[in-house]
Amino acid sequence: MIKAVRGTRDILPPDTDVWNRVESICREVFALYSFHEIRTPIFEETQLFARSVGEDTDIVSKEMFTWDDRARAQSEKSQSLTLRPENTAGVVRAYIEHKLGETGKLRKLYYIGPQFRRERPQKGRYRQFYQIGAEVIGPPSAGSESPARDAEVLEVLATLLDRAGIKGWTLYLNSVGCANDRPRYLAALREALAGVKDKMCPDCQRRADTNPLRVLDCKVPEDQPIIAKLPRISEYLDEDCRKHFAEVQSILTACGVPFTLNDRLVRGLDYYTRTAFEFTHGNLGAQNAILGGGRYDGLSEALGGPKAPGIGFAIGEDRFIMALAGENAEQYKARSADVYIAPMGTGMNVHGARLARELRNSGITVELGDESFRLKKSFESAEKLGITHVLIVGENEVKADAFALKNLQSGGQVTIARTDLPRHFAH
Ligand code: AMP
Repeated sequence: MIKAVRGTRDILPPDTDVWNRVESICREVFALYSFHEIRTPIFEETQLFARSVGEDTDIVSKEMFTWDDRARAQSEKSQSLTLRPENTAGVVRAYIEHKLGETGKLRKLYYIGPQFRRERPQKGRYRQFYQIGAEVIGPPSAGSESPARDAEVLEVLATLLDRAGIKGWTLYLNSVGCANDRPRYLAALREALAGVKDKMCPDCQRRADTNPLRVLDCKVPEDQPIIAKLPRISEYLDEDCRKHFAEVQSILTACGVPFTLNDRLVRGLDYYTRTAFEFTHGNLGAQNAILGGGRYDGLSEALGGPKAPGIGFAIGEDRFIMALAGENAEQYKARSADVYIAPMGTGMNVHGARLARELRNSGITVELGDESFRLKKSFESAEKLGITHVLIVGENEVKADAFALKNLQSGGQVTIARTDLPRHFAH
């Protein structure tokens, strides 16, 4: 038997009802804030991720699904392609390619779709997983650098989680500085690490040289006392970054969005500047980050585009759904159909189908049986589908243009004229 590949999975009904409901709540909330959807390709040139996410990150150095796409004709070139491990790079590439900044407007874009990372699969961690994300990006003249944008992005997230019914989330917030103050901090960090890195885990020893910020992200218990004594980024922010971060916090406080400062929060992608954040949830076990994001003021320029500061986030949809389980998920499952139509006897499928079409056109959900089913089998089929009402379509009913409606719960039966049926089932 051929099974789904490790780290991938099928999402089946009724779970897909919950996924769809979550996505539609997100679409409704995005619309309230004037975000519009963008759909970028699932694969891109490998270079895009290497240059944006960063060569030294775990994602680029070991987790990408990359292949050499050979030329199929003389006119084509072979190229290295990669399944997208995240979507911000693709959105910023599209922003540059289609000159979305030229209107002078702020762009507020969202996406929903699969991402791919070759990580070790475990609970809440997959090789194909889904993200619901958004980006606010534009020329500085459109206000894209303003702390008001950071606060708005965090506030839309609080609204999303609350509306979906996810309770007990925590927002961790940090500022990781900018091109101006980061070098000073990195120098201080490198110096401090030089004296202690030998005592740290192999990953940290490597990161101390390649990407020292990532040391702060280490989860190995023995390393924690060492990390606690390293210089703190909050002490190295320049005046502008400090003010920017303070303003983000005041707006959040004014809006009543609770947050916890965590100056070790650095996130795994190189492009972040200033505001960086993560929302966690208690239901998720070890992989407790439900979403993450931050500001990326230099990303467009790093990809050869115009100056276009931005901020965005990506919600892990798989984890979002896990966090919902046991809270609101049941109510998101689609209801059973309103009525089961049971055609009784030869020639009755025609009449059943016509009646089903009429009722469905009136917004009533209908399941349709088959004329070969005996009445008992129709009742059992309806029960299996969780439907309590069965409409019997037999020769007598067709002649009278009125149908017997059996209530399987109470056992009662009434006769209803065709024209009265839509009103009878109206929600
Ligand atoms: P990132 O793009 O790394 O900032 O991740 C944003 C969010 O995507 C995380 O907070 C997770 O909820 C989710 N996520 C990242 N990687 C995976 C994965 N391998 N499986 C499931 N969810 C993931």
